[in-house]
Amino acid sequence: MAAFGTVFMPKMALATYENQAWANASIVPSDKLELHPGAHVLHYSSTCFEGLKAFKHEDGSVNVFRMDANIERMAQSTDLLFLPSIDKQQLGDMIKEIVALYADEVPAPPGSMYIRPTHIGTEPSIGKAAVSSETSLLYVLLSPVGDYFAGGVKPLRLLLEENGMRCAPHMGMIKSGGNYASALGPIARAKNECQADQVLFCPNGDVQETGAANFILIDGNEIITKGLDSSFLHGITRDSILTIARDLGMTVTERDFTVNELIERAQKPGTEAALSGTAAVLTPVGTLIHNGEEITVGSGEPGATTLKLRQALNDIQWGKAEDKFGWLH
Ligand code: PMP
Repeated sequence: MAAFGTVFMPKMALATYENQAWANASIVPSDKLELHPGAHVLHYSSTCFEGLKAFKHEDGSVNVFRMDANIERMAQSTDLLFLPSIDKQQLGDMIKEIVALYADEVPAPPGSMYIRPTHIGTEPSIGKAAVSSETSLLYVLLSPVGDYFAGGVKPLRLLLEENGMRCAPHMGMIKSGGNYASALGPIARAKNECQADQVLFCPNGDVQETGAANFILIDGNEIITKGLDSSFLHGITRDSILTIARDLGMTVTERDFTVNELIERAQKPGTEAALSGTAAVLTPVGTLIHNGEEITVGSGEPGATTLKLRQALNDIQWGKAEDKFGWLH
């Protein structure tokens, strides 16, 4: 199976914003984009994107998971970046149209069709370093993906990074390319220097998130995770897992917590930690690396609660459990 995100459907849905209006969307080839080399996005990172998935059910239907929540987050990212506001209805129609075009290509579970809406500032003006782009492009790419865990669920190793931060603290909730670029250095160093799978960003001891997923701690019947603020991405999988956990009778505590508290709790036998995200679903964390020391989380093996929550989410996505929260479109 090709690496995640490297195979694309040959066409995409695309809409342009010019003269203060969105033009009708069209279906165009997905292997090229015409951009002026002076386009705003190429210089000043006026870009945001989304990641969501469509799932094939046994009855042959194709179901997009939490499309409305992803469109809301894209609209929010767009507005916080001062890109031209999107038309949410139009983006929803673009997603539905392109997914319907490739309904036959949606892999069966555990695979899915990954959907990547992208919004970029296109105005050809390198003079606009401090002014927003007046034109933009919105497009929706599709990439069929297989089982992220074909080799089984292997607990991750996370480096706790207390000095650096993933991105500027008021930008974390924006799903923008620049945030990812600024996290690449610390993540590459963590991989090279401590064979970590990911970095858990904890500036000044405040446990936030990793480069592409949110972090949750499971202590008995309680889930502890950072409460929503502007410093990190408001993951839709995070919200889904917390909703399922509450429904199962678990206590969900959204609050700030420190590296010290995390390490103390992680060393208790029954503790579990996990990463949540559209790609990661819910992946167990087995080891925390802190100041050169390795701390095993609980037993170090995938925890029962993590696997139960992961399965409950997959069951809804795959049509094997009732869609009781109305998440499928
Ligand atoms: N944080 C970051 C930085 C991410 O890139 C992602 C993946 N989109 C997440 C958290 C999880 O978000 P979601 O559950 O919406 O995929």
